[in-house]
Amino acid sequence: MQDESRNDAATSGDPQATPPEPASANAAPAGTGSPEPAPDQSGSPGSARDEAAQGEAAPDGAAAQASDSRSEGQSEDVGAVPAADATDDGGPAPDDVGDTAGGTVEQRDGSNPTLGDVLVAVEELWPASLAEEWDRVGLVAGRLHRPVRRIMFAVDPTLEVARDAVRREVDLLITHHPLLLRGVNSVADTTAKGEVVHELIEGGCALLTVHTNGDSAVGGVSDVLADILGLTDVAPLAVADAGLPEEGIGRVGRLEQATTLGDFARRVFSAMPAVAGGVRVAGDADAVVSRIAVCGGAGDSLFDAVRASGADVYVTADLRHHPASEARETARGERPFLIDVSHFASEWLWLPAAAEALENVLLDQDFGVDVMVSGINTDPWDFVLTP
Ligand SMILES: [Zn+2]
Repeated sequence: MQDESRNDAATSGDPQATPPEPASANAAPAGTGSPEPAPDQSGSPGSARDEAAQGEAAPDGAAAQASDSRSEGQSEDVGAVPAADATDDGGPAPDDVGDTAGGTVEQRDGSNPTLGDVLVAVEELWPASLAEEWDRVGLVAGRLHRPVRRIMFAVDPTLEVARDAVRREVDLLITHHPLLLRGVNSVADTTAKGEVVHELIEGGCALLTVHTNGDSAVGGVSDVLADILGLTDVAPLAVADAGLPEEGIGRVGRLEQATTLGDFARRVFSAMPAVAGGVRVAGDADAVVSRIAVCGGAGDSLFDAVRASGADVYVTADLRHHPASEARETARGERPFLIDVSHFASEWLWLPAAAEALENVLLDQDFGVDVMVSGINTDPWDFVLTP
């Protein structure tokens, strides 16, 4: 489903003005990863990144590359766009995510939807009923009758992202993470979140959250991650309570060809947008692996499901000491091995697919809208020191 819609969008859109600004030279890893390098179409990072990364995933190389990953281009776009080289390991084909991934805007014909129309399309793709109980998804700010000409997807509603959206005359910013997950008593501009609210409202930009409903849905965060990593026979790690059997948190599948943990870790590294923290691995680099569990974002609550799935490797983010240590102790040093990636990076990969899916749903209703993906790196870490 996703593949079809992506191809539709990729082939029918005309690249339009307002391309993202060039990324910093070392904004993303190069190498053998599968995702599409959007930025090459917008004067961005390809060759410079290639030099910086050289496809190396070894700790030293990654740390050196990442150490100044935001030193120059933090305020620029495309800071987080994945690298260019596509492989035959199952990731999306180069054209799949190209036009939107780097922030290139696609101009469509047809009348613009209202914000209310877009909400209907969003509900079709990522039903609010799939969200976790603790989550807060949906519209954060915006007037339902206002026309939406331009939509931007981003992982985090940071002030930098909000300002970028307003500067690009975006009418609707859709972020994965909620701005207001917990209750607030004020949105005065004396608070960081209040500043974002004011920036968006004063700039005429609505804000919408697609969070765990986007995780759980078909074509959601972990689905896309599984696809990019080349997994087949994919199923949820934890099936959604209120959804289809193929909906739920996390995914598990198998590689077409078994490989070593070290090589698979390099594939993961290459697939991710470059971030300072790189990729951490627990396990024997020479062990042969084929069954892979993934969960975009923080997935340390899913260890029981991962073990039950028989996965050789678990790829997720934000693995703290105790959950990771206990998982390794429980496994007696064996499987599942762990690959810990950047929370931001693992979820950014979803944005191009989400953008194209929404664009296609709106197109099917004869709405014209520009959809773009923020290339701003909102991973909070700036550099690491390694031995
Ligand atoms: Zn997240």
